[in-house]
Amino acid sequence: MQTLRFEELELSKEIQKAVTDMGFEEATPIQSQSIPSILKGIDVIGQAQTGTGKTAAFGIPALERINPENRRLQAVVLCPTRELAIQVAEELKKLSKYKRGIQILPVYGGQPIERQIKALRKGVHMIIGTPGRVLDHLKRDTIKMDSVKMAVLDEADEMLDMGFREDIESILENTPESRQTVFFSATMPKPILDLTKKFQKDPQLIKVIHKEMTVPSIEQYYFEVKEQTKHDILSRLIDMHNFKLSLVFCNTKKRVDELVSNLQTRGYSAEGLHGDMKQSQRDSVMSKFRRGAVEVLVATDVAARGIDVDDVEAVFNYDVPQDEENYVHRIGRTGRAGRAGRAFTFVVGRDIYKIRDIQRYTKTKIKPQKPPSLSDVEEIRTTTFLEKVKGTIEEGHLGKYLNWVERLIEEDYNTLDIAAALLKMSLGEENTSKEEVVQEDFGDTGGAEGMVRLFINVGSNQRIQARDIVGSIAGETGIPGKLIGAIDIFDKYTFVEVPREYAKDVLMTMKNNQIKGKKINIEPANKK
Ligand code: ADP
Ligand code: MG
Repeated sequence: MQTLRFEELELSKEIQKAVTDMGFEEATPIQSQSIPSILKGIDVIGQAQTGTGKTAAFGIPALERINPENRRLQAVVLCPTRELAIQVAEELKKLSKYKRGIQILPVYGGQPIERQIKALRKGVHMIIGTPGRVLDHLKRDTIKMDSVKMAVLDEADEMLDMGFREDIESILENTPESRQTVFFSATMPKPILDLTKKFQKDPQLIKVIHKEMTVPSIEQYYFEVKEQTKHDILSRLIDMHNFKLSLVFCNTKKRVDELVSNLQTRGYSAEGLHGDMKQSQRDSVMSKFRRGAVEVLVATDVAARGIDVDDVEAVFNYDVPQDEENYVHRIGRTGRAGRAGRAFTFVVGRDIYKIRDIQRYTKTKIKPQKPPSLSDVEEIRTTTFLEKVKGTIEEGHLGKYLNWVERLIEEDYNTLDIAAALLKMSLGEENTSKEEVVQEDFGDTGGAEGMVRLFINVGSNQRIQARDIVGSIAGETGIPGKLIGAIDIFDKYTFVEVPREYAKDVLMTMKNNQIKGKKINIEPANKK
């Protein structure tokens, strides 16, 4: 499908800048095709699915065609509901951020009309309104349409379904005949075509319809998460499955940059790929990814288009893609060359509806899964490791190693202890997920030099004494009691200092543990 970069659309530098700020990288298909025609003043009927960027498709040319020096109303956008009117107005305000002096006003039912009248009196270039309320203003003569150059019907099919036909006709009849008329709609039923015949001149039909796509056999999962927990869940999934090459998709360049820096802080070798980068930079990132020197590649859809790496084990939709086609393109980056691939999609709130659309469109099943907890990560990593151990035993050829184990047995160590120690040594390192590494930097907790001060949510009210604290920490974690530092017991909580090198162990072990039969919470203290 033909898409253009915004630079190719010959937009003013103000709009260009706003689009960049909004993180849009490339015009969507409906935008690429509609913007040039609407800019020329041609009447357009645009048909594309929800979420394909129709607002900017008419909003950008509308803003470009407004003359801010003329303080009269020049563009009217009609939307079916108050929510949509507000939403469209917000998007247009962002797009007009650098266009000095352009006034945009949403007018919808439910808001006191006096307030709208006051705003209208100051001079508004563009209104975004629901048909009923716009008509109301026309009748009161608080909106004058004689300078209107452009009328847009957004979600025209919805508006007709809602019975706004007559209102719409009255409004359009009140605008100058010379105006440009633009219709946007997800579907094109007959009543819309009737309306276009009546109000448009030589309309150009621009239709962006998805072609059927086949999805390769990839295991697909989604997780319902909160925006703030996406980082954690992503690192847990990578750690848990031990993915060596993952591809993560974000919807904007800005999101790519933010995520890359977060992953790098967590100790991953992560790099971003987006349209702003020079070709040489992209090539260098890609070659590192191919070599495995970069384990997590974070990209936008556009930048990832050329990616062709065979052993990507997992694709993450950190943001749910704008449309179904992108979903298919994204997940098609894994499971190549007959290898097993997995796709994970993070879903926040209403994104769940998009998952349903994607499933319908791709005719595949995306299975819901519970986001992994830290202990799930440990559990899985251990199980995987033990499986490897079994495999190695079955393969045999252990002669030389058996001799070495025998040496220890001769020294009176038992095999169980030897095995456990080896397990601890091999897993110990690995089981420190990168998430914990981040938390290891405790900063200043107000403890003595070399010590970390910890907060525990039990105190003298629970009849906690210093020896209970020492006893349980030493007992549970195995650190010598004499290394435990100052203990301050208050009514409801206690501070205890432990050597910095043991702090992480103490936190991990004592978390959700008990002291004197009370389940406790423990965390690094705040600076005094
Ligand atoms: P539609 O009206 O087709 O349902 P919207 O105009 O509401 O779609 O756009 C859906 C979302 O996509 C919005 O959050 C919008 O900011 C975003 N968007 C629009 N154009 C682009 C683009 N070119 N690149 C990235 N995101 C875009
Ligand atoms: Mg829309």
